[in-house]
Amino acid sequence: MMADRLVCRDCHRVQDADEEEACVACGSTSLTEDWAGYVVIAHPEESEIASEMEVTEPGQYALKVR
Ligand SMILES: [Zn+2]
Repeated sequence: MMADRLVCRDCHRVQDADEEEACVACGSTSLTEDWAGYVVIAHPEESEIASEMEVTEPGQYALKVR
């Protein structure tokens, strides 16, 4: 279930494993289950969403994090 995934509050990256204690991308330990809007960004340099979110790394992200 996607809803069980944790998302980093700092960079909005969706964590790959269920039991991560720190963000795989930025190392933040501020993770939350309270998020919405799953998006995969494959080519950040060509993506409007990526530039809006200030994402530079390809990956899975959450649009909204509370
Ligand atoms: Zn992060």
